[in-house]
Amino acid sequence: MTETRHVNVAIIGSGPAGYTAAIYTARAELRPVLFQGLQPGGQLTITNEVENFPGFEHGIMGPELMEVMKRQAQRFGTEIVPRMVEKVDLSVRPFRLFAEGAEFTADSLIISTGASARYLGLESEQRFQGMGVSACATCDGPFYRDRTVVVVGGGDSAMEEADHLTKFAKKVYIAHRRDEFRASKIMQKRVLDNPKVEVLWNTVPVEVLGDATGVTGVRLKDTKTGETRDVATDGFFLAIGHTPNTSVFENQVELDAKGYIVTKPDSTHTSVDGVFACGDVQDTRYRQAITAAGTGCMAALEAERWLAERED
Ligand code: NDP
Repeated sequence: MTETRHVNVAIIGSGPAGYTAAIYTARAELRPVLFQGLQPGGQLTITNEVENFPGFEHGIMGPELMEVMKRQAQRFGTEIVPRMVEKVDLSVRPFRLFAEGAEFTADSLIISTGASARYLGLESEQRFQGMGVSACATCDGPFYRDRTVVVVGGGDSAMEEADHLTKFAKKVYIAHRRDEFRASKIMQKRVLDNPKVEVLWNTVPVEVLGDATGVTGVRLKDTKTGETRDVATDGFFLAIGHTPNTSVFENQVELDAKGYIVTKPDSTHTSVDGVFACGDVQDTRYRQAITAAGTGCMAALEAERWLAERED
């Protein structure tokens, strides 16, 4: 039999939302336990330099920012558990969490498991991750001043990313697998009217090309003719959607049609009393480190208040 440990606040996920929730709940002396999950530090650990997180005038490397946040959370007494929560039971009180052979019970739960950008699944895409391959134009756009980039996708994200990249790049290709975009008309128009943008219809990337310096091009296949051709590019941006990391919470807490956790308006309260969600796992709109940190703070304050009200 495994021993069960009881905690006041369990936090699942170690991105900016989770660590911020940990800093606040630890300072409130709630002794939070944070489960790091599969990708300690979250999505920022696979980015390069972060230039838009306030407080770092000269920018900071993504992995370093997450390490600093982790240490800040630990400084106030957060316990970091390097495990993956594989199963939860939120129908009982206290809540039950199962993490790689260990069982925990928790009075309150903060979910900050994030979302993962979808990738095409090419081996070369992984090889050049952070070396020209990116899933965040907002983060990495300024590195492509006067350079050429390829954006993959045909939804609103692809339009938004392409539009943003035109502020820096001299040329933006959009490679889309069909002959029409699914993006809203107004967003389509914005990029189609931009002389820097060239759309490559019926096109899918089959290989990211590069050398020791990073991405140098992409091999594209025409879906109609099967022909391939190489296009020179410095950046390769994926905008083919995100998947929220919520499989563990299916049938436990309300999810929307796309699998994101539903939170009550202007709060981090979920459909289960005592369970709060923050960061990208409940955000389809902003997906920024700073907004994730902001909602992490909200979740911590709401959890603290909720626990205090139960004690009254
Ligand atoms: P979407 O799911 O809307 O679009 C994904 C795009 O990627 C589609 O064009 C799809 O092609 C393409 N795609 C998916 N898989 C592959 C693949 N394996 N190979 C090649 N292409 C692929 O995701 P978004 O992230 O664009 O948007 C998500 C939601 O967020 C939407 O509801 C959107 O409206 C919203 N959003 C709103 C914004 C705003 O209003 N400012 C900004 C950004 C997003 P296909 O069309 O052929 O399926």
